Amino acid sequence: MPTSPLVGPEERDAARLWEAEPGRLAVDDKVSGSVGAGWVEPVGLAGGTALVRVSTAAVRSDEAVDATLRSVLAQTRAAGASLILIETDDEARVPTDDGVRVVPMLRVENSMGRRLDRLVTLHPGAVGVYSCGPTVYSFQHLGNMRPYVFADTLKRTAQWRGMTVHHVINITDVGHLVKDADQGDDKVEEASRAEGRTVEEITRGYTEAYWEDLRALNVTFPDHWPRATEYVPQMINFAQVLEDNAFAYRLPVGLYFDTSTQDDYGALAGLDFAGMLEGARVEPVEGKRNKTDFALWRTFTDGRERLLEWASPWGVGAPGWHLECSVMSMALLGDHFDVHTGGIDHRELHHVNEIAQSEAYLSDGRPWVRYWMHNEFLNFGGAKMAKSSGEILRLTDLVQLGVHPLAYRYLLLQSHYRSQLAFTERLALGAHVALKRLAARVRDALGPAAGSPGLTEPVTLTEALDEAAVLGSPALTQRLLALDAALVDDLHTERALALVSDWSRAPGSLPVAEWEVLIRAVNTLTGLDLGLLGSADFVPPLPPDLDVSWVEDRLAEREAARAAKDWSLADRMRDELAARKVRVEDTPDGTHWYVVDGA
Ligand SMILES: [Zn+2]
Repeated sequence: MPTSPLVGPEERDAARLWEAEPGRLAVDDKVSGSVGAGWVEPVGLAGGTALVRVSTAAVRSDEAVDATLRSVLAQTRAAGASLILIETDDEARVPTDDGVRVVPMLRVENSMGRRLDRLVTLHPGAVGVYSCGPTVYSFQHLGNMRPYVFADTLKRTAQWRGMTVHHVINITDVGHLVKDADQGDDKVEEASRAEGRTVEEITRGYTEAYWEDLRALNVTFPDHWPRATEYVPQMINFAQVLEDNAFAYRLPVGLYFDTSTQDDYGALAGLDFAGMLEGARVEPVEGKRNKTDFALWRTFTDGRERLLEWASPWGVGAPGWHLECSVMSMALLGDHFDVHTGGIDHRELHHVNEIAQSEAYLSDGRPWVRYWMHNEFLNFGGAKMAKSSGEILRLTDLVQLGVHPLAYRYLLLQSHYRSQLAFTERLALGAHVALKRLAARVRDALGPAAGSPGLTEPVTLTEALDEAAVLGSPALTQRLLALDAALVDDLHTERALALVSDWSRAPGSLPVAEWEVLIRAVNTLTGLDLGLLGSADFVPPLPPDLDVSWVEDRLAEREAARAAKDWSLADRMRDELAARKVRVEDTPDGTHWYVVDGA
């Protein structure tokens, strides 16, 4: 975390700035007499470019706002900054000045309240993020990967804005029941029986497969991967606190959370809950006080032998699925943290219940987590689902179709995370062709710098602008700020990619050295490895007797024949390729080819 040269207390006519904690100054409004009405947070002050976040939304007098901004600018300049970026909710009051530039606030759509909120973190310069992880009883399908690419984009954007990110993704290896129910069979245990492998083999195997997919997608790993089975004693303690404080009650089948103890139960779902969840229950539970009450602990009463069970004050059993996320997030990020992410399916039940039990447990009158972010689904309506892996379409299935894994990342980033995405194989093939072309154009623009490993080294907004200043390039500065504006506005990756695509069509618009800085910034934010990906990366695995140039020649002939409307020649080329097991698919982005059944 950068230490702040803005130290305070700094008295101005209408405002007083003082150090509330390292890295954050509080602002007193001396006109209205309110203490700590705003704050100032310098994020990057290492180089000539400084980013200062200012919050004056609650400062009532204009004089105090002006005094605060004047003080911030004077002090930041005195600290050596030649360009000051200001992120503030009072943009209109920032003095128009050489060397001062207003940048948009980092804002995210908060499912709590369904509104675009400025991201204000609990600790200056740092953001704690918890993402609900996979239940490792089977392979993750393509749609399951979307939440992690989305959380990764949030993380990359926060880091780009100079923040340290503490990220946790859990591994659910117990407690998630078939059909998300409270009673019934554990998904992991059922898989273990069905596959004739131990629980350990099942969860390790599917966790490794999940990690492999994340690596292929350039998803940066979180700081922690907690497994539910490692936190059972903490879960029992947590549930015990809830029972001791009358938030939970015992039934023969376990310990249940009493949702009527929470006035705002269900606020996240934003719906009237009456009766809504009943349909989700596989079997109604005798003795439940409210329909929405859920199991904190499931006591096993049927005498069946189980692979996953623990002793508890409520008898031998296993923890409820919702409980684990509350316990593991608090254990690793603190009682309160900034952002909780997940798929939109979690918004109506899992996260509602996490909030209820966590706020009951803490009982400190504060919201447990301030920002709830949810990604929309990937729809498979039009997709052929049955593949080598059985019922689901996995990343490896796309790779077998000759699609580069990062083309799938590219496809996801081409839609905003809150838009539903109707997945088709054709769309994925098209994304492959489109990324291949973009990658080629970027390599052209980079010239001799293409392939340099430094292109994937992360950079922050202020570092990139420092480099633009050294290169004396207003054009580069303007592009970096445009990229920044797309991402900090609720992660509009599709806008950023449209910009990059446009820029890449004019390779001569920047000198090579400036392209290097720009592409480093693009890679920091998108994880697409542009400049490193080369044409060879887009060639599918080939049998030893098949030559790429032979394939490319036939394809070129076919293209020419089609352009000349010589359909019989075009068909003959397609047949020649098919005879060598090369399948050709025409997509809106161009022609894609791959070898049937791989090499
Ligand atoms: Zn969760």
